[in-house]
Parts: sequence; structure tokens; C-alpha cells
Amino acid sequence: MADERLNLLGLPRAELESFVAQRLGAKPFRARQLMKWIYRRGAADFSSMSDLKHEFRERLGELAQIAVPQIVTEQKSSDGTRKWMLRMDDVQGIETVYIPEPDRGTLCISSQVGCAMDCSFCATAQQGFNRNLTVAEIVGQVWLAHRELGPESRITNIVFMGMGEPLANYRNVVPAIRIFLDDLGYDLSRRRVTLSTSGLVPQIYKLAQECNVALAVSLHAPNDPLRDQLVPINRIHPIAELLEACWHYLDEQNGRSITFEYVMLDGVNDKPEHARQLARLMRGHAAKLNLIPFNPFPGTDYRRSSPAAITAFRDILNAHGVIATTRRTRGDDIDAACGQLAGRVTDRTLVRLGAKLTSASRMEAEAR
Ligand code: SAH
Repeated sequence: MADERLNLLGLPRAELESFVAQRLGAKPFRARQLMKWIYRRGAADFSSMSDLKHEFRERLGELAQIAVPQIVTEQKSSDGTRKWMLRMDDVQGIETVYIPEPDRGTLCISSQVGCAMDCSFCATAQQGFNRNLTVAEIVGQVWLAHRELGPESRITNIVFMGMGEPLANYRNVVPAIRIFLDDLGYDLSRRRVTLSTSGLVPQIYKLAQECNVALAVSLHAPNDPLRDQLVPINRIHPIAELLEACWHYLDEQNGRSITFEYVMLDGVNDKPEHARQLARLMRGHAAKLNLIPFNPFPGTDYRRSSPAAITAFRDILNAHGVIATTRRTRGDDIDAACGQLAGRVTDRTLVRLGAKLTSASRMEAEAR
């Protein structure tokens, strides 16, 4: 029989407070104690919560639980990067990656099982889409990484750059972010939580209003015909519309910058002309370009741009006054690098966006 006890992991603070008040007849500070136990101390069972009365813990155990994801496999890269495949239900698996650096520790988390955006250069897209992760499953990745990393755990940054399109799961991603920012949760500052999106324009406006974390945008092409091929959502929200939303986002968050991700694909989007077009789009805005050398995966025809092409591209951008850096590839020996997360996606119930778009445009063409 399914466990129907309420999962406290990822529950918004206000809901936790009303739960302890209404179901347990306790004061709001009990909810705050619980949050400290769950997030700061990583507790998963109520019996360890020594400053709560015995009867309170017993009653809690009857009504609630702290249900965390399970680890299916773990891999460690020679560069210290760690990757976990986590089990979210009986069949599906998603991946979470920890990237240690001298001055910080970044946890790269997933927001969906698979992805429907169908970007042509991404391994996750090849898996298709199965479902959105719940708030508990998103927060659970951080909870688990803390446990696995142990006392040396130093998660200073969280990035939504794992599997899935976070803005397509807005409903669950935003409450999870609130836990990351909450001082009784993971207590991270807004600029240390980065949401990366392929460009869901209406949700960018919503996010600007509701939860102003750092934004990264997967641009990958400086003109619509090319971006239409690489990032199919561009056929619905083209570059001009996307950038307008980005500049609006910047206005709302007073002076920080947006990072634009740009995957370097040999002979596709890495020519000097592309760099110049890109510089024109960025000019006068608080934007940073992050060039990502393409990470190959089985079955792809794309190749990584040569180091010389990447440097030349970066130099053109810099010469035009656009800040551009190259992302160092991490964890590629364990398939943990950008775009290599495939997880285990079975039972793909929905068609991919790309497929839908192609058939829609074919229908349009036929109707003409
Ligand atoms: N859905 C979100 C998060 C994706 S992963 C988004 O689209 O932004 C984070 C970054 O890795 C994105 O910029 C994505 O486009 C990029 N990426 C995907 N596949 C890649 C690959 N094979 N090599 C390098 N970067 C890749």
C-alpha cells in the first residue's frame, strides 16, 4: 500500500507551519525546528530529533515522513566530480552532479525525468520526456548530496543544469528554490542559485516577478534560422522575443548580469561571423557569454570546435566589449559533463517538442 504520510521534505515553510498547528496542535516554532533538522542536520527520521518531545515525535511519525530519493549508482571522476543516479520511482532515474572547485562547490541538479525541448546537441533530449520532478525530488537531490559528501560537504552554489527544462516545471521548481534560499533551508543567496533555461519566454517574465535568482540562458546561436535547428523552442519564442524577456529580467533584479550559454559546435555555430552577430545582440547589456565546448555522446554527429576556434571566437567577443569565458569541461570521464546526463528514462509518454514542431510546420506547409 502506498505510504500516504505527508512528505515534509521540500514542504514550503508556511505549509509546514500550518501542518504542525492544525494536525499536531503545535506552535510555529516547531516547524522551524523541523526545518533545521531536515536541512541543516540532514535528518531523515524523527527519532533523532532530540529537542522534540517524545510524544510529538511519535505523532509526527504517524502523520508525516521525510522521504528522500535513493541512490542507484555513484561515480567519481578523476577530477573530483561526483555523479549520482537517483531513483525517483520504480523505473525512472535522474542524475545529479557535484563539481568541486578551489573556491566553491557546485551542485548541478535535474528538474525533470528526461526533457521535451529536443535540443539537437543534448544527450538528455535523446531520452525524450517522462515527467516533472516533484518539489521533494528536486530538494531531495541537495539533501542527498549533503549526506553523501559528509562533513566536507561544501555546496556553495546550486545550478539547474542537469536533466530537464526547469521553466517547464515552474510549479515545482520555484518552491524548491524557496527552500534553497530560506535561512532555515539551505540559506543560499539568490546569486548562488542559477536557473538555466532554453528560453521559455512567458516563464522568464513570471520568474522575474516571483523569484529573482541568477539566470542563465541557452542561446547557442546568434540568428533565428540556426537557433531554430539547435534549440527548437526558438520557433515559438525567437531570439528578439527571448532577449527582450532577458533584458526585462535584468531590469527587475537591479544590475546583475545574465549568462548566455553557447555550445561550441565545430563548423555549425563557431565561425567569426557568428561571434560578430552575437556581439551585436549583446552590446550595451549586462550579459556574459559562457562558451561550452561541445561534449559528445553516443549517436551524435556533432563535433567539438577546435581549441583554436574557441579562443578566436572568445577574442572577437571580448574585442567587441562582450565578456566571454570558456567553461572548463568537468567530469567527462564519467559522462557527467554538460549535456551528457542521460539518466534512465523509460516509458516516454509524451512526444518531444521538436517532433511536434516539425509535424506542425509540415501540416502548415501542406495546408498552403
Ligand atoms: N534545460 C536547461 C538546462 C540544460 S543543461 C537549458 O536548456 O538551459 C545546461 C547547459 O548545457 C545548457 O546550456 C545546454 O544547452 C548545455 N548542453 C546541452 N548539451 C550539451 C552538450 N552535449 N555539450 C555541451 N553543452 C551542452
